[in-house]
Amino acid sequence: MTAPAAALRPVPDAMHTAPAASIPRAVRAPGPLVIHIEGVTKLYQMGAETIHALRGVALKIHRNEYLAIMGPSGSGKSTLMNMLGCLDTPTAGHYEFSGKDVSNMSDDELAEIRNREIGFVFQTFNLLPRSNALHNVELPLIYAGVGRTERLERAQRALENVGLGNRMHHRPNELSGGQRQRVAIARALVTQPSIILADEPTGNLDSRTGIEIMELFEHLYDQGNTIIVVTHEEDIARHARRIVRLRDGLIESDAPAG
Ligand code: ADP
Ligand code: MG
Repeated sequence: MTAPAAALRPVPDAMHTAPAASIPRAVRAPGPLVIHIEGVTKLYQMGAETIHALRGVALKIHRNEYLAIMGPSGSGKSTLMNMLGCLDTPTAGHYEFSGKDVSNMSDDELAEIRNREIGFVFQTFNLLPRSNALHNVELPLIYAGVGRTERLERAQRALENVGLGNRMHHRPNELSGGQRQRVAIARALVTQPSIILADEPTGNLDSRTGIEIMELFEHLYDQGNTIIVVTHEEDIARHARRIVRLRDGLIESDAPAG
């Protein structure tokens, strides 16, 4: 049920310097269905007003896909992302994650799926400020009950995999924005989740650092990870292999990235 362990290899040095245009655009063969959404709606009640954040969304995502979800502000991206990430359930419709019906799960059951299956990456990194990189990455493994020796070993490998083997004992305020996001990505990866869900992961970074982060996602995709990036920036979305565009709570288009 869990993802086959992606081989962890250090980031090649060339990755940090290669221009975006030279990124190989290999498309990996899709694996089994991991996300299956049908007719999903989400309503928010604001006093007398009902807001239709999602109006009947259908989406299938397979393992080994690299997908961008795009759309203007207010189109429902975050609402859909919360649904995909099992942070919230739909008002109506059906959601299966790895063949399990999650549309009617309790909060505890949803938390279980989140912890086991999903690696989150946020715009604001969300690292513990007083903890060094190693401890930040180790944290999900503490929650998962992994023993100390294995925890440290896996956290170290995850940090090496994002090119931070030499920054393990630095705290967030001793790291650049791009390095902080790499720590957050290592934390998302360390549990070997089925999918990585990144909400505007480059939103707080300058454009050059943003490209470096997208090159890191490329590397993770090559390793067999399944990646969903939510963004409103075309430059970021074109790194993915498939682009889903939302408008007014509906999927407007769903096509391979040009
Ligand atoms: P996006 O992320 O694309 O900007 P959202 O998913 O955040 O869009 O929002 C979609 C719509 O739902 C917007 O009209 C927004 O105002 C509304 N909305 C989002 N979250 C809530 C909420 N918790 N309560 C009420 N309305 C919400
Ligand atoms: Mg949003």
